[in-house]
Amino acid sequence: MTFGWTARIDAMHKRRMLQSLALASTLTMAAPGSAGGIYAVDVRDDRVIVRFDDRVDGASAFLLDTPRRIALDISGAQVGRGQFAPGNGAIAAVRQGQLSEGTARVVLDLSSPATLGDAQIAPDGKSLSFSLKGTTDSAFRTAVGRGRTSFDAPANMSARPQKRLHSITVPIPSMARGVALPPVEGARDGARPLIVIDAGHGGHDPGAINKENGKREKDVTLAIAQAIRDQLVKSGRVRVALTRDDDKYLVLQERYGIARKLGADLFISVHADAAENAEAHGATVYTLSETASDREAARLAARENKADIINGVNLGGQSGDVSSILIDLTQRESMNISASFARLLQREASPYVPFRSAYHRFASLMVLKAPDTPSVLFETGYISNADDAAFLASREGQQKIARGVARAIEVHFARKLAMHGGTAGG
Ligand code: ZN
Repeated sequence: MTFGWTARIDAMHKRRMLQSLALASTLTMAAPGSAGGIYAVDVRDDRVIVRFDDRVDGASAFLLDTPRRIALDISGAQVGRGQFAPGNGAIAAVRQGQLSEGTARVVLDLSSPATLGDAQIAPDGKSLSFSLKGTTDSAFRTAVGRGRTSFDAPANMSARPQKRLHSITVPIPSMARGVALPPVEGARDGARPLIVIDAGHGGHDPGAINKENGKREKDVTLAIAQAIRDQLVKSGRVRVALTRDDDKYLVLQERYGIARKLGADLFISVHADAAENAEAHGATVYTLSETASDREAARLAARENKADIINGVNLGGQSGDVSSILIDLTQRESMNISASFARLLQREASPYVPFRSAYHRFASLMVLKAPDTPSVLFETGYISNADDAAFLASREGQQKIARGVARAIEVHFARKLAMHGGTAGG
């Protein structure tokens, strides 16, 4: 069985695996058949060997703390029917997940702090091995801070030219670099403000689903994001980009990473979640805070931050906890701008979109974490509510939302220009 390869499956792992079993098997089927399936992880003395049934292209690794893990991203690999031989017990459990079509992630749960060294892919490309060296807690944390390392080709490879054709190691780019930047549309003047609109969820993550009519959050968020984009392009006053323009999965880090890479002036993540109470309706704007404004905000953050976790593997490569973020001056300024935009959004959009009375809430939402980009998460309504779902899924509703967002954006940047002594014309 695909997931039967943890040596010590604790109750939590088991539960998580059962929950995501159906999901993960869909992922496996979606992966291309030619990639090297992961079939075994062996621990021999202090060496760990990951074996594949076909050649893989390259790999990179990074460490994660609390709990201590090693994550391996292997390009040209796919989730397979692996066996895990625990060996000396340095590794407590092994899990795997499909990060993207061409890249699988293997996560090794460490029993004690250890770092990996001497990593190499065999000349035939069918195994990856590295040594595990026990270390101190503080040395482990230092290694975590160092980030990702790509594996070099084996040193003896150049001495074996006959093998080279089949064993070229291509280090995969870091996750943020792996995402192609979307096109920027709208005003041609590069000095105009850039707004990045993020359609929540996507791909294997449908987001919330209305149980009555089957409407999915990922579909309405995409349609709304596209409507906002079209409205902004039409105005010709700002530049705009979408994090996704189709049914694609992005980890949370990639979403705000796109905004940061493009140098966005504003980031809006569009959502339409479910409430326990089917009567709950109306829009809410969330901004980042270390502590949630209320229980509902805390629950929402917990749910949204889980979008990165599939089959117990955190595809985002970091913990969903943002309580430890360093709130420096940049972040503080971004948070103030975000909060002022949140209020403006309600003021300008409420003629078109019904808002809840407590329309501005705070939570430690991962997707709002970019320290230098003012960001809001716009809950456009509840997909679990019949009226909201109909509004959000309709062309008319989407255009109303887009009009409201575009007006708020216009006022927001006109104010900024006025403050900086510029003119708001154009
Ligand atoms: Zn959502």
